[in-house]
Amino acid sequence: MSNCKTISICNQKGGVTKTTTTVNLGIGLAMQGKKVLLVDADPQGDLTTCLGWQNTDNLGIALATKLSDVMNETMNDPMKGILHHEEGVDLMPANLELSAMEFNLMNAMSRETTLRNYLMQVKENYEYILIDCMPSLGMITLNALSASNEVIIPVQAQYLPAKGMTQLVSTISKVKKYINPNLKIDGILLTLVDNRTNLARSTVEALRNNFGNQIRMYRTQIPIAVKAAETSSKGKSIYAYEPKSTVARAYTDFTKEVLADGRKKERLHTHDAR
Ligand code: ADP
Ligand code: MG
Repeated sequence: MSNCKTISICNQKGGVTKTTTTVNLGIGLAMQGKKVLLVDADPQGDLTTCLGWQNTDNLGIALATKLSDVMNETMNDPMKGILHHEEGVDLMPANLELSAMEFNLMNAMSRETTLRNYLMQVKENYEYILIDCMPSLGMITLNALSASNEVIIPVQAQYLPAKGMTQLVSTISKVKKYINPNLKIDGILLTLVDNRTNLARSTVEALRNNFGNQIRMYRTQIPIAVKAAETSSKGKSIYAYEPKSTVARAYTDFTKEVLADGRKKERLHTHDAR
């Protein structure tokens, strides 16, 4: 059995820091010694550009081989096209060509599991695979959820955060019921938190009112900070760009929370097995 855990960073709302969280959780895990693959599952290619590659350029073999190609099963070597970032993570990049997949998958065989089937081939090389989802619940996102063990939902601290959450949670439940029985929501990560307002508290309350204790919220909250927004154009993580910032500290804590959780589950698992 593979020891790799696959996590989708998912919310159909844009601008909730899915991509930023994928970068900083991914590199955070790599800094803790984990082997990590990041998958850009958004045709906008934001994850690819955030990590320093131009997703419009043809950079040779690397970007000629994108997620769309591997999902089209045109590959002989499944590791071909995976890029290596200097901070220790691998990346399966994407660009606009991926948007064709939204349509092509409609008529494909095993259309919800194409990404899963691909990741099965590279899984043995990694301990964590993080999938940065696009802001919709279409075929590509269904593929990401079908390929995952867990979902992390970043939610922006604001009024009415539960709007859209119901649809997301119901989509995840359907994927669990029909395609991927092992799928679970690991938790909600509160992001863009401004401590000068009460928005974080009212967001937590609104989520509790809607979902009760059904979904846990991570203890760590990610503060809003200009430095974090700047990082997106630097091709590196917040740890490399602004290591002493509150956001760097928050992502370090969040990474540890995700790791501690994994260890706890492993212990429970070995206990069960006895
Ligand atoms: P998504 O992938 O959900 O669309 P992004 O990760 O692209 O969200 O983030 C949305 C915007 O917010 C980006 O411009 C990003 O630079 C910015 N951003 C991310 N994290 C923070 C933060 N902690 N504080 C302020 N701005 C942030
Ligand atoms: Mg994004």
